[in-house]
Amino acid sequence: MAGGINIRSIHSGFRSPFAFIVFPAPTPTPAPIPSLLFPPPSSAKVTWLLGLTANRLPQSPNRFSPLSLRCLITAGPTREFFDPVRFISNPSTGKMGFALAAAAKDAGWSVDLVAGPVSLPEPDGVMVYPVVTAAEMHRQADALFGPCDVLIMTAAVSDWRPKTTEPQKLKKDGQGLTIELEPVPDIVSALAEERRTDQFLVGFAAETENVEANALDKLERKGLDLIAANSVAGREGAFGSDQNKLIVLGRNGFREVLGPASKAVVARQLIDVIARLVAARTAA
Ligand code: C5P
Repeated sequence: MAGGINIRSIHSGFRSPFAFIVFPAPTPTPAPIPSLLFPPPSSAKVTWLLGLTANRLPQSPNRFSPLSLRCLITAGPTREFFDPVRFISNPSTGKMGFALAAAAKDAGWSVDLVAGPVSLPEPDGVMVYPVVTAAEMHRQADALFGPCDVLIMTAAVSDWRPKTTEPQKLKKDGQGLTIELEPVPDIVSALAEERRTDQFLVGFAAETENVEANALDKLERKGLDLIAANSVAGREGAFGSDQNKLIVLGRNGFREVLGPASKAVVARQLIDVIARLVAARTAA
């Protein structure tokens, strides 16, 4: 367990690359963990936090200098439980979001990272807010969205969740099981509805086909400024890989291809693109 992130490895029942039902590790897995909104900082972080607080004074004169941006990043999967020990999830490992958090910090930004269950060390100097379900991610992102300048939604939020969660572990009876699912509200679309015009919103689109067309559709539909599209088709797909290739699409025909390269390199390039676009918009 690194720095308080909820870390539990994912043990899949199936090898489907997409939504699948996940069964927990043999070690006892607790019921869905309640959201830790604004967890108290560890004592080791207090000194650093004092510095960070100064960084975060709103409306500083050079607020939109690429060096003074405040960034909110979501990463990893979410888990949607249908009983205390079983859930629906996806294979996201959070690597891209964590790499972006580290790159944004290195660029001098202050970074809040809302992370679903992943097995990654916390990037240095980044405030990590662990969450488990999409509802928790939504609440936490909403709480941090107001003061942020840049939102980067890399999280692979579950698209559906069980309509009900059984309070006790379901018993096997040799029969099949039908679970009724309901759609999960779209977090980034909801945030986009309450955005200020000076905020810059970046989404991710994991696609198996028609990558650019589908990503452009999401850019419009979700009210984003930029979308980073990648292919997750086949075994070489981005989920879990250390490499990535992003097609970055923006408004007014903006298009740039990043990679293929390590996620760390692609993350630095994407932070650079965002810094350029934010600076250009501010100058306009
Ligand atoms: O619709 P799709 O899941 O492909 O959209 C991907 C983008 O939307 C990502 O930026 C993801 O974080 C975000 N998303 C969201 N809330 C959801 C589903 C996706 O914010 N419920």
